[in-house]
Amino acid sequence: MKQFQYIHPTSQTAVLDAISKPGSKIIAGGTNLVDLMKKGVTAPDKLVDINSLPLSTVNTGPDGLHIGALTLNSVVSENSLVLDKHPLLAMALKAGASPQLRNMATVGGNMMQRTRCAYFYDTAMPCNKRTPGSGCGAMGGYNRMHAIFGTSTQCIAVHPSDMCVALAALDATVTIAGKKSKRRIPFTDFHRLPGEHPEMDNHLAPGELILGVDIPDNNFAKNSYYLKVRDRQSYAFALVSVAAGLDIQNGIIKKARLAMGGVAHKPWRLFEVEKSLEGKTPSEDNFKAAAQIAMQGAKAREFNAFKLKLAPATIAETLKHAGGLV
Ligand code: SF4
Repeated sequence: MKQFQYIHPTSQTAVLDAISKPGSKIIAGGTNLVDLMKKGVTAPDKLVDINSLPLSTVNTGPDGLHIGALTLNSVVSENSLVLDKHPLLAMALKAGASPQLRNMATVGGNMMQRTRCAYFYDTAMPCNKRTPGSGCGAMGGYNRMHAIFGTSTQCIAVHPSDMCVALAALDATVTIAGKKSKRRIPFTDFHRLPGEHPEMDNHLAPGELILGVDIPDNNFAKNSYYLKVRDRQSYAFALVSVAAGLDIQNGIIKKARLAMGGVAHKPWRLFEVEKSLEGKTPSEDNFKAAAQIAMQGAKAREFNAFKLKLAPATIAETLKHAGGLV
């Protein structure tokens, strides 16, 4: 591993100053970054430890529930406000990684984690995300875990997070600080599709810092569910996952929010499915019909065609749980 400098600034100003220099990288829990450094996928000159910043709070505010970027995944998943208002988020967090990793991983780090495409981690293989212009080992390789939506000629990787799928479904917003100003963006706009620049995972500009996420109030608490289909029950990434929240009043779906994981370079929000469900009764037939809408535009590769069947089946099953049919 390349030698690097480690600093531990204690103020936001000092952090922003440190990360404005090329070659600097933020470290918080380090649950992904340290792996990437050990494997030679990334080699920063300087690690900027941000753990002294006061960004570990979970509280209610004018924009709903605020969760600081340094809050641990395990803390969020057991927080009483989260369990009461947004159990979908707790379910998604508990489906991710392992208890040990959730005790180290932060909310901001979870958002910044990189794809688990095996070719990305193997520095002997071509990968446009790791080395732009080198090619994509997965396209003609073993692409069982890869995307069926929003791919490009450059990259077919998927985003690995469970938490982010729930936050996309819950209409969260992200607050970001730069040296000169703060800005907020919808969570669904934080991560990018690969396009011509798969090396860029998200819209965080160089020198910017995630401060936290806010989840607006909703009526999904009673009717929400996160279903993750994976090769083993624990410590495995999603083949397909679905986050669903339904606002059901007098037996009618007033509002629906859905997002999928394991199928695209970003959490894949199902806007058309949501529209199709609103005004309908929560029935198995309606859920199956809605799930088919989600598959418009899906494109499989040699080894991931099973996702074309698994995805709609997972959507329908998730909706059955969220809708109280199971
Ligand atoms: Fe790299 Fe993306 Fe291709 Fe994987 S799918 S090898 S991350 S370019």
